[in-house]
Parts: sequence; C-alpha cells; structure tokens
Amino acid sequence: MTEKIRIIVNEDKCYLCGGCAGVCPSLAIKVSSSKWEFFQDKCISCRICVTACPVGALEAEVVEGKT
Ligand code: SF4
Ligand code: SF4
Repeated sequence: MTEKIRIIVNEDKCYLCGGCAGVCPSLAIKVSSSKWEFFQDKCISCRICVTACPVGALEAEVVEGKT
C-alpha cells in the first residue's frame, strides 16, 4: 500500500528560504516572507523537500498506509 505522509515544519529552524517549495514537484509547499504552508491534498509523499532543506527543518509524519 502506498504511504501517505504529512510534512511538518520546525519554525524555530526554518528561515523561509523557499528551497523546499522550489523542489516540490507538486507545489504542495508555499513559502512567503512571513509563513510556510503545506497543502496535504497536493503532496505525493516523495520526501524530496525533507532532503532539500539546508537546515533540517522539515519532518515527515506517516499519516496513512504504513505497512
Ligand atoms: S513530500 Fe514531496 S510532494 Fe510532499 S511536500 Fe515534500 S516535496 Fe512536495
Ligand atoms: S527549505 Fe527549509 S529553511 Fe527553507 S523554507 Fe523550506 S523548511 Fe524553511
């Protein structure tokens, strides 16, 4: 079964560089100068954003389909 994840941001680490939003293939993350936003309905659970963040501010939480 395909796993479904939710991406969580650690706001103490995130400096809103936009890197994660830039690499997300499905535009599930939006970063502006004042906030970081995640859109669950768009996320395809690839985890590219988690790897891309230069300060390790993102974490993936499995919400569905763990085998
Ligand atoms: S896991 Fe993939 S699809 Fe989901 S927010 Fe991160 S980069 Fe985008
Ligand atoms: S790549 Fe990391 S530091 Fe940059 S906006 Fe995304 S979560 Fe924040």
